[in-house]
Amino acid sequence: MSSVNTAIQLITREQAEQGATAKGSTCSPALAKGPWDYDLAEALAGIPAYGPGASSADVAPAATPRQGQLPEEYKLASDAELGERILAAKAALGDRAVILGHFYQRDEVIQYADFVGDSFQLANAALTRPDAEAIVFCGVHFMAETADILSAPEQAVILPNLAAGCSMADMADADSVAECWEQLEEIFGTEPDAEGRVPVLPVTYMNSSAALKAFCGEHGGIVCTSSNARTVLEWAFQRAQRVLFFPDQHLGRNTAKALGVPLEQMPMWNPRRELGGNDAQALLDSRVILWHGFCSVHKRFNVGQIEKARKDFPGVQVIVHPECPMEVVDAADSAGSTDFIKKAIAAATEPTTFAIGTEINMVNRLAAEYPQHTIFCLDPVICPCSTMYRIHPGYLAWVLEELVAGRVVNRITVAESVQDHARTALERMLAARP
Ligand code: SF4
Repeated sequence: MSSVNTAIQLITREQAEQGATAKGSTCSPALAKGPWDYDLAEALAGIPAYGPGASSADVAPAATPRQGQLPEEYKLASDAELGERILAAKAALGDRAVILGHFYQRDEVIQYADFVGDSFQLANAALTRPDAEAIVFCGVHFMAETADILSAPEQAVILPNLAAGCSMADMADADSVAECWEQLEEIFGTEPDAEGRVPVLPVTYMNSSAALKAFCGEHGGIVCTSSNARTVLEWAFQRAQRVLFFPDQHLGRNTAKALGVPLEQMPMWNPRRELGGNDAQALLDSRVILWHGFCSVHKRFNVGQIEKARKDFPGVQVIVHPECPMEVVDAADSAGSTDFIKKAIAAATEPTTFAIGTEINMVNRLAAEYPQHTIFCLDPVICPCSTMYRIHPGYLAWVLEELVAGRVVNRITVAESVQDHARTALERMLAARP
């Protein structure tokens, strides 16, 4: 099976030659270009953007990191030449560097990764290499921050393209959350109830900035992943009357609903509106206050796609990620993290048809790994995560060759004061038990 990027190049070429009769479609022909074109476009416009892909319509905050210009030699090199240079740099570095690749990363980068996994698995994988001077994280910004928090101070965490942020993580910033918290404290006060439960606890999804993880650590709160969100919410409800959940409304809603929290007790907090767009009574009656954030990759999935898959493939197993909207999760056969999806497919003993609702690079890789099954993405349009897509083998070759030359570029560092509180929230998550 060809990679997502190869398919994009082919579709874009066919569209240019054959117009409407071309087979297949992508959400943007600009995906066929090198990500450095977007580094340049941002530099010229003076404003950051996520680039083509699922988040292209999301507005990047002004402070979003931008990538300087990649040296020309890496832009002009063929895939084969970049491959040779990456392998040579890896060999020269040996154990001094470890390369981590997220499930949603393109195959052309993943092939060089020492570990492949979700964000938390990768941060933990890095812990198995305490001798590595550099941790090259082929994922997005918040993942590199988590790796920096969990790794030793002398280890440098490197993000090959600084513009690889995360549109969902950017939807909740530390100032807006602090402002929300102030307003909630005015309404709820800070006194615990008769059972010792505080009025509200903050819970942040792993897909958030280190500053928000630190906010949770400082305010008695906790971090969750899509694998342990249920356990973490139960932990929080033992200690608090309600939860402020950010940044992903869908993971919060899907998890709380599965725990029996009624939808009317899950108001949404829109940071651009007074009291988040709620009246005080709705907040007082709430159990989970959901931040107005979402993942633009998982927002693309809808119930119509599931109905079509069921019609076209009777008996199909539909598995979606809990970052998908509630109606999609409800219509699927099951929902769970990337790890859950992988395990569900690995556990199938008979040839099965799976329709998967998560990022296309991971779905394609699963299809190649399990040829005995029919595995396809629910979304027929090829539309990768914009920010993962900002990482290209050219950037990987560049950061590795810089390391060989004794220079560390694109280092992600989290301030020590932020690290301490963020680590507290992460440690609470690790200690939380069902
Ligand atoms: S898939 Fe969604 S949550 Fe994950 S990095 Fe991309 S935009 Fe962020």
